Amino acid sequence: MSEILVKNATEIATTVGGIKRGGALKELYLIHGGSIYIKNGLIQSIGELDDFEHLIAGNPEIIDAAGMTVTPRFIDAHTHLVFAGTREDEFSMRIGGATYREIAERGGGIKKTVKDTRLASKTELVETAGAYLEHALRNGTTTMEVKSGYGLNLETELKMLEVVEELNQIQPVELIPTFLGAHAFPEDVSRDEYIQSILDMLPSVSGKAKFCDVFCEEGYFTIDESRAILEKAKEYGLSPRIHADQLTSNGGAKLAVEVGAVSVDHLEHVTDDEIEILAQSDTTAILLPGVSFFLNYGYPPARKIIDAGCITAIATDFNPGSCMCISMQMVMSIACTQMGMTPEEVLNASTINAAYSLGLTNVGSLETGKQAEVLIMDVPNYKMIPYFFGENHVNTVIKKGSVVWTR
Ligand SMILES: [Zn+2]
Repeated sequence: MSEILVKNATEIATTVGGIKRGGALKELYLIHGGSIYIKNGLIQSIGELDDFEHLIAGNPEIIDAAGMTVTPRFIDAHTHLVFAGTREDEFSMRIGGATYREIAERGGGIKKTVKDTRLASKTELVETAGAYLEHALRNGTTTMEVKSGYGLNLETELKMLEVVEELNQIQPVELIPTFLGAHAFPEDVSRDEYIQSILDMLPSVSGKAKFCDVFCEEGYFTIDESRAILEKAKEYGLSPRIHADQLTSNGGAKLAVEVGAVSVDHLEHVTDDEIEILAQSDTTAILLPGVSFFLNYGYPPARKIIDAGCITAIATDFNPGSCMCISMQMVMSIACTQMGMTPEEVLNASTINAAYSLGLTNVGSLETGKQAEVLIMDVPNYKMIPYFFGENHVNTVIKKGSVVWTR
């Protein structure tokens, strides 16, 4: 395993300790002119090189980070990475003023992606998702949650989860699979039949997914249906996540706390009462500002959510319909300019808190003994990352102690 010394960084910017709530989300630990010694996949030392140079026994690869900023790598805790086809025609229609219903009537929307994904072979899906992952990696994401949900039948849901399994064997971005059979209702079976069918899929998908997610929203899955699916999923060892309060305020965030969900995602229409309940819980609020940007609708009340003390993370929600963006740097910038989050908050929300929402404890910050998951960015300080937006600042990506991408 490779041994690396990242030395002389103009700035190292990381959180220390565990998850960050409330005012602590702004806390960053900065080292100027510091170095990081990496061996056996772990951070062995971090700080002033003079303090630990005597511990370096071997002949490490030296990376001179002068002029650059070193941060933990990004964790994208909400994506729909695996899908066939794209929807740029629908994008043009939307810009032209077409409504969601008109787009659906002309064969667009999620139904198009379900149709294309059912028809695609596993090999085709591995190729397209693998190509998107190359974008994610060079933009600094090395861990990503990935949902199924474009199959809406057992055969294709399993195919999607198997694509995730295969991608984990052949490329460096670590993927964490979520079963999202409850993404929409398919056209070929009745509503009741499909709810039963999701419950019947759980034993088959349980070995292939870590989480179970539900699109809890008016016109999609009701509170009672979502509860029934998530409670049953828990019996099969799948921890709940919920898409909630995206288009309307329907109590999905409350349900998330009730079922002990690890995350509740979206929250554009979350109420003050629900924010209070969330703040008392261990459920992570995952905000997806790229969706509001791309669809041009209201943003979640990030300031209220953070200031109330909710564990807050941000993610891309990469998908072909509502957010064709796989760059956490772009999402960080949108979160700052449109939701009032600070550069410190977006860094912690993309690293330590995102890690927590996925049940990952040994990553998310640069600390001695933690897995070496490091970004070297071509900017002199961390504030430049969201400030100089629309640009990829990543110079080098280190995953489990090895360089997996460099400019
Ligand atoms: Zn989503």
